[in-house]
Amino acid sequence: MSASTHGFLKSVDTVFDNAAKILKLPEGLANQIKLANATYTVRFGVRLRGRLFTFTGYRSVHSDHREPVKGGLRYAPYADQDEVEALAALMTYKCALMEIPFGGSKGALVIDPRDWEESELEKITRRFAQELAKRDLIHPSQNVPAPDMGSGEKEMAWIADEYRKLHPTELNSWACVTGKPVNKGGIAGRVEATGRGVQYGLREFFRHEKDLKLAKLEGNLEGKKIIIQGFGNVGYHAALFLSEEDKAIITTVIERDGVVHNENGINISLLKKHMMETGGTKGFEGYQEAGAEYLLNDCDILIPAAMEGVITKENAHEIKANLIIEAANGPITYEADKILDGKGVVIIPDMYANAGGVTVSYFEWVKNLTHIRFGRMQRREVERQNLSIIEAIETMTGKSFPSNLRNNVMQGPTELSLVRSGLDDTMRIGYKAISERFHSDANIKSFRIASMIIAIERVSESYGSLGI
Ligand code: NAD
Repeated sequence: MSASTHGFLKSVDTVFDNAAKILKLPEGLANQIKLANATYTVRFGVRLRGRLFTFTGYRSVHSDHREPVKGGLRYAPYADQDEVEALAALMTYKCALMEIPFGGSKGALVIDPRDWEESELEKITRRFAQELAKRDLIHPSQNVPAPDMGSGEKEMAWIADEYRKLHPTELNSWACVTGKPVNKGGIAGRVEATGRGVQYGLREFFRHEKDLKLAKLEGNLEGKKIIIQGFGNVGYHAALFLSEEDKAIITTVIERDGVVHNENGINISLLKKHMMETGGTKGFEGYQEAGAEYLLNDCDILIPAAMEGVITKENAHEIKANLIIEAANGPITYEADKILDGKGVVIIPDMYANAGGVTVSYFEWVKNLTHIRFGRMQRREVERQNLSIIEAIETMTGKSFPSNLRNNVMQGPTELSLVRSGLDDTMRIGYKAISERFHSDANIKSFRIASMIIAIERVSESYGSLGI
């Protein structure tokens, strides 16, 4: 179903309007922040299978109060201008909320990647990249795309390569796009980053007793029953980390071609293997020919991680979860949001919940500009210092340091451990700010509005300092 039938952009804009009202933002400034600065539509032909195919792509720049602007490139057959502008706006608010120094942008290519061979996708992507790069809509200091639904490392590597061909002498050319493979200027931990961010976000939520009570939950993530929709990049990684590291029980995975259900917990790695081998969920233990109705089942936490507009005024009344974390962008329409708020359901909003991707993209961009792997300078020096401390303890106590702890204590930081640390820190600080703001003002009725208020304040401060 087309995203625009759910009024994705209208949903985002209405949340903005409600937050701006609480902030008493002057109308002129509110409009300046809210409306997309520009949306570029490109139609281009590619010769494939003995004929010419025409493709449509978009790149929307929502706000360039900070540059570069940042946001994914989605490959989806139903993408349209409304959707791209809504996603670009969310990027502006997300970056402001999480203190990532970027403006907001988003792009899409109207295509179902499953209809094309890899070599064909490469040709199409390279041509799309040329069209965008020609107009500085791919550029290390102006506009930096990343993966989103339907695109991944491969596409980002083709885009980077195409940009580098157009600008062979540009020193910072790798920084033109993020989400690249590590051997093409990428960063360790980027592929998993959004799912990892969902995990860190949930962990931080569980550290806030007051908020936990609002969701009628207690304890930690262990044993909590989770339903997850969408088993792609974001959904798979979130499910994997929450089940393997936090001992949460993933009871249900809702995919495009069916549902996998197991009250005792699905083995996430095995399901992934099955999907890689067969292309779908069919045939896996617990498979059922069913769909989105499973969003309505009993669980502690619901994680929509597929696409926008899946929880609407038609099904919101029947949602049983008391906590929803929006791993996807815009999975709950504005009307559904009101219904869920009325029912007391706690919603951790998309602009926070899925910010792990852009956070680690920011680290990748910084890595590309500094031309050095994180940890390269300090890792062995930290190890040397830690070893001295271990030796001093051994000398002072006359006992040898426990061998099972020795490696852990000694280890210096690797790029991956630094990326995780930076992401964890960003998710903790972001959540604290939202929770504090939510509890500080009785007019603020949801975490979504609290998040939006923080974002608007930061963007308007930035405009203010530009004299706008
Ligand atoms: P993806 O293409 O890797 O995975 C999406 C998955 O959802 C696929 O497995 C697909 O089969 C499934 N799906 C699609 N429609 C469905 C439906 N109606 N019901 C059930 N399953 C369905 O995409 P992704 O990168 O994981 O992105 C998912 C969501 O997360 C999107 O809203 C995206 O904007 C958001 N997001 C992604 C990133 C990122 O880093 N990839 C970052 C931030 C936000």
